[in-house]
Amino acid sequence: MKAAVAHSFGAPLSIEEIAKPSIDAHQVLVKIHACGVCHTDLHACHGDWPVKPKLPLTPGHEGVGEIVELGSAVSHLKLGDRVGIPWLYSACGHCEYCLDGKETLCMEQQNSGYSVDGGFAEYCAAHGDYVVKIPEGLSYPDAAPLFCAGVTTYKALKVSETKPGQWMAVFGVGGLGHLAVQYAVAMGMRVVAVDTGEAKRELAQQLGAEHFFDFKTDDVVNAIKKVSGGVHGSVCTAVSKAGFRQSYDVVRRGGKCVLVGLPPEDMPLPIFDTVLNGVSVVGSIVGTRKDLEECLEFAARGKVKAIITEKGLDDINDIFADMEKGEITGRIVMNMPK
Ligand code: NAD
Ligand code: ZN
Ligand code: ZN
Repeated sequence: MKAAVAHSFGAPLSIEEIAKPSIDAHQVLVKIHACGVCHTDLHACHGDWPVKPKLPLTPGHEGVGEIVELGSAVSHLKLGDRVGIPWLYSACGHCEYCLDGKETLCMEQQNSGYSVDGGFAEYCAAHGDYVVKIPEGLSYPDAAPLFCAGVTTYKALKVSETKPGQWMAVFGVGGLGHLAVQYAVAMGMRVVAVDTGEAKRELAQQLGAEHFFDFKTDDVVNAIKKVSGGVHGSVCTAVSKAGFRQSYDVVRRGGKCVLVGLPPEDMPLPIFDTVLNGVSVVGSIVGTRKDLEECLEFAARGKVKAIITEKGLDDINDIFADMEKGEITGRIVMNMPK
């Protein structure tokens, strides 16, 4: 089968023929129809983070398609089911986190397109218990970005505990951020968004942000405080330390700053202000299978729609180059060969 494979960190991916995966009793084989490209795939291929992915690696954790083979122990799925394979490839199912509805914190978890091969390929083996069904009426390319960008931002907004009518600041209007704006609006929040350039401004406003500020030309922190009086919650998807600090500085007293982006950097915080202002700073990592079902349901009901550009597997190195420059509007989804 055809796949995009990383052999060493920082080198271009190679498009090559590799063996179609075989499955064990608990797995399913998915014929991939489409797979979104997340900035995490780029971090993986660059070896950016302290925990490194496997090599050689087939990246991709927004792979969606149909089940073409079923393991003998998989009884709740059938051939032809339309499913997606998220970042949480599998978890142990019995640790304190798995039992407590926090499976994304499981220490035994495997991650698609990181510790195991993912969706940048014609076929992908997946754990039967951790694939999530795609609701009827949602096409493969439209569903793909929801399996990471969608569920991650939906969950981060829940973690922020921001209520309808309250202010939410979304930092970064990229693949994740453009969905964060939509979920926040759908959840009744008032949204201010931050990124740079006219294309991102237009996109954010078209998706329902009341204000947009440009991190290259605006005094972002004061501008946001002026329009909102300080936000109740912020979600930072920017791949920049400066954006993280601003997402902290704009939160009003008692508010919550949710960290989502993963630049490989530290974020110094002022102890005095954090204590006196009673501000929470919290990390949020993807979402559970239940979060994913909920986030897909928003899209199935037409409340949220990923803005996508469809490309092919052969385009992956150009897609990564554009992503590094911040030049992508919405999400790129690669359609797999038929
Ligand atoms: P993306 O490249 O599509 O979008 C990033 C956006 O941030 C771009 O539009 C860029 O212009 C903008 N940006 C850069 N500097 C900024 C600043 N100072 N202020 C505001 N915006 C700024 O990337 P993506 O796919 O949306 O991923 C974003 C980050 O989230 C990556 O680091 C990725 O690894 C991480 N991520 C985290 C999780 C999680 O579970 N926590 C899940 C998926 C992705
Ligand atoms: Zn992702
Ligand atoms: Zn576990």
